[in-house]
Amino acid sequence: MIDVNALGKDLREKIANVRVNIDERVCGRVIYSGDGIIRISGLHDVKYNELLEVQGGARALALNLETDCVGAVLLSGSEGVGFGDLVYSTGETVHMRVGEAMLGRVVDPLGDPLDGMEEPACTQTRPVEYPAPSIMDRGKVNTPLQTGILAIDSMIPIGRGQRELIIGDRQTGKTAIAVDTILNQKGENVICIYVSIGQKASSLAKIIQTLRSTGAMDYTCVVCSTADDAVPLQYIAPYSGCALAEYFMYRGKDVLIVYDDLSKHAVAYRTMSLLLKRPSGREAYPGDVFYLHSRLLERAAKLSADLGGGSITALPIVETLAGDISAYIPTNVISITDGQIYLESELFNSGVRPAVNVGLSVSRVGGSAQRAAIRRISGQLRVNLAQYRELAIFMQFGSDLDAETQKTLSRGAKMTDTLKQPQYRNYSVREQIVLLLVAESDLIDKIPAKKVTAFNAGFLDMLRAEHAELLEAIDADTAVSDELRARILAAAEQYADAFAVEEEPHAAEHAEEVQ
Ligand code: ATP
Ligand code: MG
Repeated sequence: MIDVNALGKDLREKIANVRVNIDERVCGRVIYSGDGIIRISGLHDVKYNELLEVQGGARALALNLETDCVGAVLLSGSEGVGFGDLVYSTGETVHMRVGEAMLGRVVDPLGDPLDGMEEPACTQTRPVEYPAPSIMDRGKVNTPLQTGILAIDSMIPIGRGQRELIIGDRQTGKTAIAVDTILNQKGENVICIYVSIGQKASSLAKIIQTLRSTGAMDYTCVVCSTADDAVPLQYIAPYSGCALAEYFMYRGKDVLIVYDDLSKHAVAYRTMSLLLKRPSGREAYPGDVFYLHSRLLERAAKLSADLGGGSITALPIVETLAGDISAYIPTNVISITDGQIYLESELFNSGVRPAVNVGLSVSRVGGSAQRAAIRRISGQLRVNLAQYRELAIFMQFGSDLDAETQKTLSRGAKMTDTLKQPQYRNYSVREQIVLLLVAESDLIDKIPAKKVTAFNAGFLDMLRAEHAELLEAIDADTAVSDELRARILAAAEQYADAFAVEEEPHAAEHAEEVQ
């Protein structure tokens, strides 16, 4: 006989004691894995850009939402991910760690440390993709961001909240300008973020070393993705850097962010798109490559006073091939930014460093933020240099030159020399004013050609040591008074005489050598 009641009771007890571990997350299965790409079937309710978790711990980013499957890129390479693995949706997009603790650190695009120290003590995160401030949220660009580089601050001034492209062939000093600008922000209350996208680990190590040894790391965070990192990490690096910059901007701070470089970013995105089998367009880039950069650079802004008046100044870098600025990515980024600093390899190789081509470089908004004293002096500079360049081309034909033309030529050459500046040797605003005053005075005719750079360096050293009061008397926000100008030029004249005497023995030695 079976006691139904006892059996029923027994069963009920057993059922009550059953502990099931049901995973209620939405999941699907991998149906393809290769080249860092996975396709997942059965996963529904996924958002664009959502983080997915693959069985075994790998993470992926959902990028293609199709009717029958989801295409995603693995953030950590495709090792250990195979056919049939479970994939869970997380309901979250990628977030970046943000906070003051990020300063002085070297991190990857997800905010994890790469400098061998403990995790940054940050309590907050920000979504890596975030809408740009609207028109009403923006204020006017009215504060200068001094790069410390005379050629740029005098002719292509940059304002806080501006986006200024640095463009040029490989090895023309693009990174050098960005790094010098970061170094120049010491004591200026500007937070700097250097985002490296797909660069060689060795060049990056050098940059970090420079930032450390000059003390610039105190106010800088480096967000790295090197050339051997997974392509999706290179893709999100600039957005992560921008999320960190936004954290500071919305707290009323001024931020400078360098994207080094966006050509490699576009290439990383192209790789991902081609592997995801998205249709390709010009130069095999996908159709939305313009949006890739426009949504990033639009996030740089000067906020209105109501929102705290913070700013993000962006210095994107783009590499050209054989100086071709009309290629796809360069034209896109030129059209998005507020101006460009164009570097030329010919200038670089002929010793004009920084190799800024003044004719093709422009700053569309920085003029209103330029310091008054510099604006007053440098107004004529661009025109004079353009005239000089035109004449210099004619001079190659060797025709007879009248005195006036010779003067323009010699002045132009000396102006070009004045604008030469070694790396890591930034000028303060006052020093820039002094150099410009000397360069446009008649005094410059006295200084022998090719000696201008040495004269300028010596003169500034002398001023700092013996006439600090002259430098301090300069007020960058008003035009330099005639009296002060005369005093500065008198000091320069005095130094020029001493300089000529000092140079003579060398000249004599040189003459002997020639004989
Ligand atoms: P890449 O295309 O490899 O990224 P880049 O355009 O960023 O190159 P840099 O790495 O900044 O160029 O500079 C190239 C070289 O030129 C470096 O060795 C650097 O030290 C030197 N250089 C850059 N600017 C100057 C300068 N103003 N004076 C002297 N040397 C400079
Ligand atoms: Mg570089």
